[in-house]
Amino acid sequence: MSKIAIDIDNTICDTSDFFGPIAENYDRNVLHKNNIINYDKIVPRSDNWSKEELAYFIENYFNKESINIPIKEDAVIYINKFKELGYEIIFITNRGIKDDDYTDLIVPEYLEKNNIPYNSIITKSNDKYMYLDDVDYFIDDAIRNCEEALEKTNTKVIMMETSKTKDYENNKIFKTSSWKEIFNYITR
Ligand SMILES: [Mg+2]
Repeated sequence: MSKIAIDIDNTICDTSDFFGPIAENYDRNVLHKNNIINYDKIVPRSDNWSKEELAYFIENYFNKESINIPIKEDAVIYINKFKELGYEIIFITNRGIKDDDYTDLIVPEYLEKNNIPYNSIITKSNDKYMYLDDVDYFIDDAIRNCEEALEKTNTKVIMMETSKTKDYENNKIFKTSSWKEIFNYITR
């Protein structure tokens, strides 16, 4: 049966939107600053934060709160439909790739908490294309991951559209912000 590899952050859950206000709160009320927070990062932050300030945020907010990132409700519905149809579901994330990021450890707990079925999980994967040899479909929001998968594998690439990629166009990549459309595309 077909295999689907799925990214986590900003693909099945709204990581940046969840942590943006938390980063702002940390900046205002803990650091007592008034920095602009960059929401485009998986760990939203200010470019003015020192290394130590960012490390504190990752340790005390990002690592601790990532279990509470809201899941996309339609992701739950359609990933369960894939599972019912017999598709193999692999989650592939670069979480844990940095020494101070421990959010890879809670991935199984997070998926189970949100009723997301899976067959396997790959973490710390900076070069996701390397894991796509026998994968039929790859779903990710990051341009680099999608383009590398397109260039270096035979996997069909689906881009989860975010505010970052709304103007991105590539006729070889199916781009959508809807899990229903992803389901229809794969099962068509
Ligand atoms: Mg992502």
